[in-house]
Amino acid sequence: MLKVGLTGGIGSGKSAVARRLAEHGAVVIDADKLAREVVEPGTPALAEIVAEFGAEVLAADGSLDRPRLGAVVFADDERLAALNAIVHPRVAGRTEKLMAAAPEGAVVVYDVPLLVENGLGKFYDVVVVVDVDAETQVRRVTANRAMSESDVRSRIAAQADRERRRAVADIVVDNTGTEADLDERVDQVWRELIARRDEIGAAGARPGT
Ligand code: ATP
Repeated sequence: MLKVGLTGGIGSGKSAVARRLAEHGAVVIDADKLAREVVEPGTPALAEIVAEFGAEVLAADGSLDRPRLGAVVFADDERLAALNAIVHPRVAGRTEKLMAAAPEGAVVVYDVPLLVENGLGKFYDVVVVVDVDAETQVRRVTANRAMSESDVRSRIAAQADRERRRAVADIVVDNTGTEADLDERVDQVWRELIARRDEIGAAGARPGT
C-alpha cells in the first residue's frame, strides 16, 4: 500500500485531484467527510459535543450546526482542543478501518486540508500539495460557493502559506491552469505514485504478508 497525503489551501483543487486519482483506481479517504460522519445525529461524538458546548450548537433538526460551533471554537485554542479531542480519535479510527479494507497494493489518497498545519506529513509515504495563488483561490471559491471574498481571504490567512506547504511536499501539483491542464498533470502524478508504490513494494516485500 502507498499512503498519499493530499493537501492544499481552500479551493486549491484537492477534490478535483482526488476525483481524478480515484478514476485511476486510488482509494480516496476524505477527512472532512469523515469528520462530518462521526458527528451525525445519534452518534456518541455528537452527544459529547452537546455536553461540552451546549445544545445551542445544534440546528433545529438536531444535526450539528457547524458554522455555529466553528464560531465558538474559532480563536479559542482550548475549546478547539476540546472539540478535536472528541472528533479526531474517531476520524482516526475510521481512517484505520478504511485503510485496513483497502486492497493489497492500493494507492490510498487521504485528502487532508490541514495536513501541513497539523504536522501530519510524517504519516504518509508521499505528500502531494495542490498549489495555486491566493487570487485564484478567491476567484474560484467565490464563483462556486456561498462564501464572500473576505471570508475566503481570512481563511487563506489562517492556513499555512504556499511556501510552508511546498516545503513539506514530495510532489507539487500546480493548479493555476485549466481543468484539462490539471487532469493531465494528475495523470502524470498517478504514474509517479505507481512507480513509488512498486519501489516500496519491491524494497519491503515479505512473502506471506
Ligand atoms: P476545499 O478545500 O474548499 O474543499 P478543494 O481544494 O477541494 O477545496 P476543489 O473543490 O477541487 O478544491 O476546487 C475548488 C473550486 O474550483 C471548485 O468549484 C472546482 O470546480 C474549481 N476548480 C478546481 N480546479 C480548477 C481549474 N483548474 N480551473 C477552474 N476551476 C477549477
